[in-house]
Amino acid sequence: MKAMLDKAAKEGYAVGAFNILDYNSTKAVVLAAEQVKAPVIIQTSAKTVIFWGASAIISWIKQFTDSSSVPIALHLDHCKDLNLITECIDSGWTSVMIDASSKPFEENLALTRQVVEMAQPRNVTVEAELGAIVGVEDDIHVKQQDAHLADPQQAIKFCEEIKLDCFAPAIGTAHGVYKGEPKIAYDLLEEIATKTGVPIALHGGTGLADEVFKKCISLGCAKVNISTQLKYAFIDGFVDYYNANNTQYNPLKVIEAQFNRLTPGIIEKIELFGSSGKA
Ligand SMILES: [Zn+2]
Repeated sequence: MKAMLDKAAKEGYAVGAFNILDYNSTKAVVLAAEQVKAPVIIQTSAKTVIFWGASAIISWIKQFTDSSSVPIALHLDHCKDLNLITECIDSGWTSVMIDASSKPFEENLALTRQVVEMAQPRNVTVEAELGAIVGVEDDIHVKQQDAHLADPQQAIKFCEEIKLDCFAPAIGTAHGVYKGEPKIAYDLLEEIATKTGVPIALHGGTGLADEVFKKCISLGCAKVNISTQLKYAFIDGFVDYYNANNTQYNPLKVIEAQFNRLTPGIIEKIELFGSSGKA
């Protein structure tokens, strides 16, 4: 993932990181990226890894990476559990996120350092978070009153102490569905991106306006996470097909409907982020 993000940061675009749910959604992400010749990040939540098991997910991914025409990174999103991070690295994930953002600064730093020391010698990229990104992502709940933006001085210190490959400071975006207009701290994003020189990950991508994405990318976001959009397409693809054909019990048609619902939204985001044609 590091090579992808360094190139993206240098050339002023962002790589889409899409949270997959199963084999079908993995296939939708890969084929979408191939269609527009874009590098892509397949992202798994800790919950998804626990649900299917690491080896099942690796077998889906390998099927595509062995023959794909585009670079594909496999990234573990928000993980608090060092054992699961170790398991993913051992299984073949090429990138991991340690999320110790709920811990005090020094503890976050120490845990992140531990992951970096374990991952980087094995060529595995590390992303870390600072501040608290609001909303719900799987079992990670951050209430509005607990959310706080990353402190710029702490962010700079964090990145001086540890050589991160990707950094996720809280800048005002949120996981899940936005209620009202999100307030993005663009000045904070710019200051952190400029002073740390580390590619920034934009969390809570679903629901942001096109111009918000573009501005964040121009200020240093090289990775954009899209999760909720895929969850909606996955369920809506199923429900809409069933509602229109509720006397048929043809599961393969349902799976196809889900696939067809997922793909256009993924392509649209890749094109918006400027990564099409960059593979
Ligand atoms: Zn996130």
